[in-house]
Order: sequence, then structure tokens, then C-alpha cells
Amino acid sequence: PVIRSQNSPVDYTPDAKFYKVEAILRPWRIQQVSSALLKMGIRGVTVSDVRGFGAQGGSTERHGGSEFSEDKFVAKVKMEIVVSKDQVEAVIDKIIEEARTGEIGDGKIFLVPVSDVIRVRTGERGEKAERMTGGRADMSVTALT
Ligand code: ATP
Ligand code: GLN
Repeated sequence: PVIRSQNSPVDYTPDAKFYKVEAILRPWRIQQVSSALLKMGIRGVTVSDVRGFGAQGGSTERHGGSEFSEDKFVAKVKMEIVVSKDQVEAVIDKIIEEARTGEIGDGKIFLVPVSDVIRVRTGERGEKAERMTGGRADMSVTALT
């Protein structure tokens, strides 16, 4: 069955025009996730290599030493995607669809309200700065399905 985020809220608190979808994912799924996002017109994405500790790290070899011993951090990729409010749920569902294996360690998604977006090149703010040329807002409604 298709797994979606449960009980998608109509509104988020605190309210904002833009949100950062911050996803900690398996490195080998990043290519698949980002190309799927690109297909839906999400072109602005930042990724970083990170190391994390979660259920996956904690579930292996708890006997040897402290719970937070260095060697239990697992390599992950953090994907940060700032989108307008109306794009948040689609982005979350797409990430789940493309990143999920069903095994422990698939990752987690954090949703963060963003106060403003400023484009360095032009000094534009807000919607003008958040909109990407060729981005979703530029695509025809029919192309999105
Ligand atoms: P310009 O038109 O001046 O090129 P732009 O909106 O296309 O502006 P860039 O300057 O190309 O933005 O973006 C620089 C970096 O900022 C990107 O490589 C990416 O890491 C990050 N970035 C841009 N937009 C977003 C976004 N919406 N969400 C997350 N990261 C973004
Ligand atoms: N909201 C932007 C647009 O529709 C896309 C944002 C992004 O690519 N992260 O053009």
C-alpha cells in the first residue's frame, strides 16, 4: 500500500507563507528523491552529508560501551527544501514515496516555518524570491496531474 503522511493537517502552527521541509534520509535514496521532486517542479533543494543517531544506530550492538559511542552514528543525507505552504504536503508525500524502504533507518522529516526568503542576486523577498523559474508555479496545472 502507498504510505502517506498520516492525518495531513490543513494548517500548521505557527502559520507561515513558507516552510522548510527538512528530511534526514538514506544517502543511496537521494538521487531518486531529488529527481522525483524535480519532476514535480521542485527545483530548489539543498543537501548535506550528515551523521545521525536514531533507532537504527541504537538497535545495533547496544552491549559494547555507551549508547552514544561515536561508532554508532550512521551516514545520512539532510535534504532542505523551502516551499510555499500549499506545496508542503505534496513534497512530504513524494519524499515518503521515494525514500521509504519500510526498514528501520528510513529517516525522518521535520517541518519548519520560514519567516522570509531573500534572493541575494536581486534582493527580492517573499513570494518573488521563493518562486523558481521553471518551478512548480510555472508549470501548467495539467502537467502536474
Ligand atoms: P538566482 O535566480 O539568483 O540563481 P535562485 O533562486 O535560483 O536564484 P540560487 O542562487 O541558484 O537560487 O540558489 C543557491 C542555492 O540555494 C542552491 O544551490 C540551493 O542549495 C539553495 N536553494 C535555493 N532555493 C532553495 C529552496 N527553495 N530550498 C532549499 N534550498 C534552496
Ligand atoms: N515554490 C517554488 C515554485 O513553485 C519552488 C520551490 C522549490 O523549488 N523549492 O516555483
